[in-house]
Amino acid sequence: MNMQTEIAVIGGGIVGLCCALRLRDQGHEVTLIAPQDDENGASYGNAGVIADYAVMPVGTPDVLRNLPSLLFNRDSPLAIRPNAALSLAPWLARFARECMPQRAEANARAIAALLAPTPNAWRAIAAQIGGTDLLKPIGSLYFFETEAERRASDFRAYRALGVEVEQITRDELGQLQPGLPAHIGAGAAFFPRTVTLDDPTAMLRLLRGSVDATGVQRIDGQVTGLQRAAGGVRLTGHNINLSARKVILAAGAWSRELAAMAGDRVPLDTERGYHLEYDCPSPRLIRQMTPVSRGFYFCPMAGRLRVAGTVELGGLKAPPSPHRWAVMERGARAILPDLPEPDRRWMGFRPSLPDSRPVIGPSHAGGDVIHAYGHGHLGLTLAPVTARIVADLVAGRDPEMDIAPYRPNRF
Ligand SMILES: Cc1cc2nc3c(=O)[nH]c(=O)nc-3n(C[C@H](O)[C@H](O)[C@H](O)COP(=O)(O)OP(=O)(O)OC[C@H]3O[C@@H](n4cnc5c(N)ncnc54)[C@H](O)[C@@H]3O)c2cc1C
Repeated sequence: MNMQTEIAVIGGGIVGLCCALRLRDQGHEVTLIAPQDDENGASYGNAGVIADYAVMPVGTPDVLRNLPSLLFNRDSPLAIRPNAALSLAPWLARFARECMPQRAEANARAIAALLAPTPNAWRAIAAQIGGTDLLKPIGSLYFFETEAERRASDFRAYRALGVEVEQITRDELGQLQPGLPAHIGAGAAFFPRTVTLDDPTAMLRLLRGSVDATGVQRIDGQVTGLQRAAGGVRLTGHNINLSARKVILAAGAWSRELAAMAGDRVPLDTERGYHLEYDCPSPRLIRQMTPVSRGFYFCPMAGRLRVAGTVELGGLKAPPSPHRWAVMERGARAILPDLPEPDRRWMGFRPSLPDSRPVIGPSHAGGDVIHAYGHGHLGLTLAPVTARIVADLVAGRDPEMDIAPYRPNRF
């Protein structure tokens, strides 16, 4: 049977849920299409940081200088699966171009503009869904393991984009992070304004509960077809036959094919990320902390320590690489030698563009499809702001910022 809706949101991760809730709040009839019991995606397994300090794109001149050695060293924080190198060559070529100084600076400015309203946007949505207690406004740390790392650190570009960051000594670090072994490391950079989530899954469940309570209809399934038709867009899939006046495409790393069906060729791929979890009845660390050269975060969360991060370029189909978990496990023990065997291991798909900017905005072929994906390392952080922009576009209002840097046809 062909069903009708005013607005269909494709994807039930953090971005799709925030969009559905915002649009319903604004009085629209909304239908959300996503697999119902999808609690294992990027939005659940991430590092839980509302990273309003993370203004730097992944691609920078430094990364470009070291790209070959990074990519082809299996232990590096930015590695590529060897058998994916050929298929990823076009994405990598664009990525290399985005590492050039002027491009990287423009990308940082575009990211910073989206990040500026995120703390308020998150506070508002957490209050609305009853999740304020899950926000931990206690800052985060970049941890220097060696004196050389500390000396090489340079936060001028961060400060120029409005980020508050303090360099702290080893002794000061000991006060902020009492669980660290004595004498390890050479100090840290402290981002005092960072807010972290005590439990991303709990926050997502609250969000889903609010989405359901406000009357968003749900269809359990995957959209496989998207076609423009008279009066709207027709979405099809197994048990899906829905006509919508507008479609919000928020299917994370799986959005590329649907975007192409809407007429937009977007170089979306995935940066696969990993996590390990250690159950800890009492907190092992207090604050979220990143050993800068290792590319992962220690994330203290409710009842556990999550070690999350690193990038593996390898597409959506290949299974997780046990080697990546082993490297993270070794790295985590280098800093916390008493860590036992992890209790859980996970891999997820960041939806990533070569310029580290998300895709937010109307389809090139018409405003009946609005794109909202590709948030890379910052999807948790940027979801509420993305939802505000999407709601403005649906209502025909000017968004709170210039969205030209995020448009789908910028490539
Ligand atoms: C290890 C790791 C650590 C991270 N840490 C952080 C962090 O600390 N802070 C931060 O801001 N970000 C972080 N991120 C990034 C963040 O998790 C992602 O950017 C974000 O979750 C993307 O959300 P999304 O809703 O776009 O996609 P997803 O969460 O992937 O959701 C996509 C949804 O679309 C559905 N879907 C896919 N295809 C279809 C289809 N055809 N039809 C219907 N539904 C479909 C999926 O089932 C899923 O429900 C991290 C990511 C990783 C991997």
